[in-house]
Amino acid sequence: MDRVNESLQHAERKCQQKGVRLTSKRKLVLSALLSSDKAMSAYELVDLCKEAFNETIPAMSAYRILDFLQSHQLVHKLQLANKYVACCHIECDHRHEISQFLICRECQRVKEISLGNITKNELKHDVESAGFHLVNPQLEINCVCNECTTKVA
Ligand SMILES: [Zn+2]
Ligand SMILES: [Zn+2]
Ligand SMILES: [Zn+2]
Repeated sequence: MDRVNESLQHAERKCQQKGVRLTSKRKLVLSALLSSDKAMSAYELVDLCKEAFNETIPAMSAYRILDFLQSHQLVHKLQLANKYVACCHIECDHRHEISQFLICRECQRVKEISLGNITKNELKHDVESAGFHLVNPQLEINCVCNECTTKVA
């Protein structure tokens, strides 16, 4: 069984545990994202589903599907790029921590890593003492991946 299918099965099980359904369209969008190591916009996903699976998904439903997947932490939205990536913890059972996304500015590859020991409460405290309210704790960091670094050198 390939990696995408394996992740899909885990996603399906997680949805079942929460009493929600990973419908075939939701599965389709998720598998399109899982098969890409780059972030994709809703429109790019609509195109990919048409190309790869011969399925037409209207943009409005694509956004709804992505909202669903996002609310169950199966995908994440990168606020800066306005694109989506599949969560890299779909196959994990641990609690989802605060993520930071390393985004290669050369090849747009995205890697999700956990923010380690910093808890949402600590972050919230810092933000509030600066006079702001925390909306979304996720971090997006502008990087160059190792592969692109070697190419440039
Ligand atoms: Zn994640
Ligand atoms: Zn994990
Ligand atoms: Zn790169």
